[in-house]
Amino acid sequence: MFSRAIVLKVAALPPVRRLITQGRLFRKLVDRFVAGETLQDALRVAQQLQAKGLKVSIDYLGESVRDRQTAQAVVEEYLRAIPQLAEAGLDTQVSVKLTQLGLDIEQEYCLRNLECIVRRAQEVGGFVRIDMEGSAYTQRTLDIFAALHERYPNLGVVIQAYLYRSDEDVERLIRCRASVRLCKGAYAEPASIAYPKRSQVNAAYRRLMQRLLLDGYAPALATHDESIIRDAIAFVRSHQIPPQRFEFEMLYGIRRDLQERLVSQGYQMRVYVPYGEAWYPYFTRRLAERPANLLFFLRHLLR
Ligand SMILES: Cc1cc2nc3c(=O)[nH]c(=O)nc-3n(C[C@H](O)[C@H](O)[C@H](O)COP(=O)(O)OP(=O)(O)OC[C@H]3O[C@@H](n4cnc5c(N)ncnc54)[C@H](O)[C@@H]3O)c2cc1C
Repeated sequence: MFSRAIVLKVAALPPVRRLITQGRLFRKLVDRFVAGETLQDALRVAQQLQAKGLKVSIDYLGESVRDRQTAQAVVEEYLRAIPQLAEAGLDTQVSVKLTQLGLDIEQEYCLRNLECIVRRAQEVGGFVRIDMEGSAYTQRTLDIFAALHERYPNLGVVIQAYLYRSDEDVERLIRCRASVRLCKGAYAEPASIAYPKRSQVNAAYRRLMQRLLLDGYAPALATHDESIIRDAIAFVRSHQIPPQRFEFEMLYGIRRDLQERLVSQGYQMRVYVPYGEAWYPYFTRRLAERPANLLFFLRHLLR
């Protein structure tokens, strides 16, 4: 967790950001994690994945939007994307970040923006998942989710296993039959609110995963951790939970072998497909969560 904080801090320095975003040097590495810059790129990738039996959730990249014009453009992008996913015959799901929809501008404004997207998705039988961002946004994200979920059951949210508060949040979400995507958590958080050790995060993940598999509504297990996935499979088998009751989720470009293997074993697998010009923060979180990515990146830089 400590090294993750350093990587994220260094990556946020303006000269580092310029170096990575302005040159062609890192394009290949970025392309590994990001489908492209346009909706057409995302749709093309989504269709390729669907042909292999994988579902998708597409994400128009961006966060920390501070002006209404940009937030409006984001809403419009999603309103364009949703019917196109449906028309292409894809299982229509999008992932959204609330700071991209104006959460830093005003909570009520953000809620209205989200509602436009969720309503559009509902019209075509689609689903909207709210990503979970850094801890400064956890409560507000859950509040906005709760305000809309009763009217829009096609709205789901994300819980991060590394936060101490997540056990209680999961119980509340189980009670209101909300679909939860469970992930470990990708941000640099202090030990006062989040487990600092990887082993503790993994233990929390397994605990929450079992609660969601037993009593949750359409839970999504978002992880590439093969040992956790093995445990999930053993758990559902021993509790006779059918594969249609939950899904695995992974990020585009990570563990493609495992994604396809799980599909061939009869499990539902959804791939998070990010696209758009504002790929930098997403990309740095992917670098920060795995030392091997960072080494690859540094080798590139030295060459
Ligand atoms: C579908 C999906 C949605 C997500 N949504 C959110 C969200 O809303 N909020 C949030 O905070 N986080 C989100 N995350 C990220 C998540 O919190 C983790 O940071 C990320 O998934 C890495 O954790 P892991 O569970 O794969 O386990 P880890 O222990 O980090 O990794 C297990 C193994 O997976 C592989 N792996 C993991 N990450 C990488 C990588 N970057 N590059 C290459 N290989 C890798 C490696 O083989 C590694 O050994 C999401 C993840 C997924 C899959």
